[in-house]
Amino acid sequence: MVDLHSLTTFGVPATADTLIHADTPEILLSALRTAHGANTPWLVLGGGSNILFTKHFSGTIIRNELHGIHIVEETEHHVIIDIEAGENWHTIVTYCVERNWSGIENLALIPGTVGAAPVQNIGAYGVELREVLVSVTGYDIPQDTIRTLSNEECGFGYRNSIFKQELKGHFVIMSVRLQLSKQPQLRTNYGSVEMLLKHIPIAERTIRDVYDTVILIRKSKLPDPAQIGNAGSFFKNPEIPSTHAHEILAEYPSAPIFPLPNGKTKVPAGWLIETLGWKGYRNTDTGSGYAGVHSDQALVLVNHGGAQGKEIQDLAESIRKSVWQKFSILLETEVNIL
Ligand SMILES: Cc1cc2nc3c(=O)[nH]c(=O)nc-3n(C[C@H](O)[C@H](O)[C@H](O)COP(=O)(O)OP(=O)(O)OC[C@H]3O[C@@H](n4cnc5c(N)ncnc54)[C@H](O)[C@@H]3O)c2cc1C
Repeated sequence: MVDLHSLTTFGVPATADTLIHADTPEILLSALRTAHGANTPWLVLGGGSNILFTKHFSGTIIRNELHGIHIVEETEHHVIIDIEAGENWHTIVTYCVERNWSGIENLALIPGTVGAAPVQNIGAYGVELREVLVSVTGYDIPQDTIRTLSNEECGFGYRNSIFKQELKGHFVIMSVRLQLSKQPQLRTNYGSVEMLLKHIPIAERTIRDVYDTVILIRKSKLPDPAQIGNAGSFFKNPEIPSTHAHEILAEYPSAPIFPLPNGKTKVPAGWLIETLGWKGYRNTDTGSGYAGVHSDQALVLVNHGGAQGKEIQDLAESIRKSVWQKFSILLETEVNIL
């Protein structure tokens, strides 16, 4: 039995039968073939920043530790790079910003690996990975072959992709190809980013300015997993019919709702949770008191030190129930619960 508690950002107690560090494609493929052939449960783990273990994992954890960056094509306008899946996402963002390659600067400081980034189509501050992703290459387990999926084939949506749907448990991402621009069109329309940049004239703003601003905002808003266990946003922001949103507005005229191009309306899950008084809650009455809701960010569930994964899961369920009872909205979890 192996201890996994330090391999996830929630830091809850977690164990599995076996742990394999896959730092070469051969080790990765061999581990996957063995587990698949023996019909043993397996899971590929990246940085563990979007996972909550709630019980012993009776199978093999394969830690993706493939490293490397290769330039595939470079012109005066753009650069195309292949990045191995085990690279740290933020390190790659910094690497690109240092070279003045634009496209992912808004995604600075998102924890985790490059290989997990397409799984939920990571997004922040008005940008999603799918906007720069050319293709994904990985191991197709049932077909026992390495194949490449184009951007369209990845089926990207809001915090969603084919890797969370049809290919879940069938495909392991080994590398990601991105196209970045050498003639940046900075994306600063996200409220807080624009506000902090407004002292710099638009024509003088750089990729580095956006990168630094995003880091500044994230450090001031989001709890650092090194200080307090968490996995970022626990729930997705729900999209509801506009008639439903207007019913909420009738009761809460200042509710922050956002009409979407698809005709639906986005309601921040954090606002729903905060409105119901969960912000800063700790499960002292029902459990150890170590599972809670962050005191500044209602969307972030936290481990104050000694919480079990099951306690965080139970807390998430209580929050879902209360949001359903009050607003008739069923929150969907963003974190993978095992
Ligand atoms: C403080 C904090 C802030 C965050 N902010 C954001 C944010 O702004 N935007 C955002 O989108 N997310 C955010 N997240 C969530 C998280 O960082 C991302 O989802 C990240 O991409 C997860 O990467 P990981 O390597 O840690 O994945 P893991 O947690 O290790 O794995 C996540 C899932 O992907 C699967 N997986 C991992 N690697 C592979 C692979 N190579 N092939 C196939 N499947 C794989 C795993 O099996 C699992 O199901 C945040 C998390 C934290 C802790």
